[in-house]
Amino acid sequence: ALNLAVELTAPNGVKYSQPTGLFINNQWVASSNGEKLTTLNPANDQQITSVSAATEQDVDTAVKSARKALQDSSWCDLCVSERGKLINRLADLIEEHRETIAAIETWDNGKPYTAALNEDVAEVVQTLRYYGGFSDKIFGQVIETTPGKLAYTIRDPVGVCGQIIPWNYPLAMAAWKLGPALACGNTVVLKPAEQTPLSILYLANLIPQAGFPPGVINVLNGLGRVAGAALAAHEDVDKIAFTGSTATGKVIMKLASSNLKSITLETGGKSPLIVFDDADLDLASYWAHAGIMSNQGQICTATSRILVQDGIYDQFLAKFLDQVRAISKVGDPFDESTYQGPQITKAQQERIVEYVKIGQDEGARLELGGQTLPNLGNGYFVQPTVFTAVTESMRVFQEEVFGPFVVITRFSTENEAVQLANGTIYGLGSAIFTSNLARAHRTARKIEAGMVWINSSQDSDWRIPFGGVKQSGIGRELGEAGLAAYSNIKAVHVNLNS
Ligand code: ADP
Repeated sequence: ALNLAVELTAPNGVKYSQPTGLFINNQWVASSNGEKLTTLNPANDQQITSVSAATEQDVDTAVKSARKALQDSSWCDLCVSERGKLINRLADLIEEHRETIAAIETWDNGKPYTAALNEDVAEVVQTLRYYGGFSDKIFGQVIETTPGKLAYTIRDPVGVCGQIIPWNYPLAMAAWKLGPALACGNTVVLKPAEQTPLSILYLANLIPQAGFPPGVINVLNGLGRVAGAALAAHEDVDKIAFTGSTATGKVIMKLASSNLKSITLETGGKSPLIVFDDADLDLASYWAHAGIMSNQGQICTATSRILVQDGIYDQFLAKFLDQVRAISKVGDPFDESTYQGPQITKAQQERIVEYVKIGQDEGARLELGGQTLPNLGNGYFVQPTVFTAVTESMRVFQEEVFGPFVVITRFSTENEAVQLANGTIYGLGSAIFTSNLARAHRTARKIEAGMVWINSSQDSDWRIPFGGVKQSGIGRELGEAGLAAYSNIKAVHVNLNS
């Protein structure tokens, strides 16, 4: 077919046309060497379809098209309110197609369909509308200096933005990156993760329908070390935004030095959840469970370390384990009663099982889970896994597992809790459970993290800045803060003396 699409039927019966090409200059093309990638259904290890994989040459073609679009009057001279309308129209189209998009997301990623529909796709729409609304509210300042001079600032687009996103929230990560980039007048080359290209390719089909001029948004599926690396290193890309592992973030930072690109990184985490003696333990166990077991534990901000004060340790542990046993139904992501679907890949499943062994070898106590679930077929399922007797020096305390895998450590004083919380290379999320207001805010200040949840976990909202400190990242996404990385401030000095 002309648009390189295949007719597919998702496991829930949704029939649709799946684009499989590279989306460059508002057109679908095959990769320059015909290379393809196979995408698998993580719930049964079966092939869904194959899609074009971009080469270095394809990345170059997409960057050229983004550069041309940046300088084309159809985009650079577009009234900023009209720019906002395009973003809003894209949001409307995604909303119209939400059931198809959610089915694709669940099929390709393995996350429960209800979450894909009501959380992921809903968030995509809200995020795009939020940034669409910002398009005509981005402006410089007039700054007073001396009477003979006028000084003001202009917020120019950064230029061509490379955006490399992960597989855990494919569409939402695309929206977090596209929204602010477009609102600020940039053009984009977006690379989805090779494990989950399908929903974003479907979204790309809606881009010309929304009215975006050719080249403003380009979507290239491809391997990280080929297409991702070519984008990060490209000398005509002005900015690179990345979400993924800390290890890959470091590689991207090096590649981006080719032309001193502006970079924002949102990387790994090992976020603590602290339960103090005076906490509401029902509330704490509810959120401690959701904080690590939702989205199959594949959340960069997952509260994967639970720190529990001595006085309520036994009571909390009993409640938490009950919660995990009661809620974590693992299985078919299209089944409405499923809480936890498969992990994204066989490699991730194996990695989690490997960490179970590491934890046991280190002397931690496996309280629950730790096994794969072959009774569910060939899907990459893992039992919800809980370790106790975990100490600070253990690898299972320090290293990100990225699965339904949580470690529990005891502490006795508030200072010790803060020290343990801050005792990793990461600083992304953190949660505090206490009924003492002063303690909650005191601890929130001392924790090294980009986000703190008080008596909650995993709150994320398109209006609120999101990002990390230490090795969890550079810069902020979402909220007004998320715009900062997408414009350059130009200072204009005018001499009024004649
Ligand atoms: P994971 O290891 O869990 O797949 P990554 O952080 O490696 O997570 O992947 C996140 C994104 O980074 C994906 O889009 C992937 O293709 C991309 N990526 C991986 N390796 C590189 C690389 N060397 N250069 C650029 N992008 C990469």
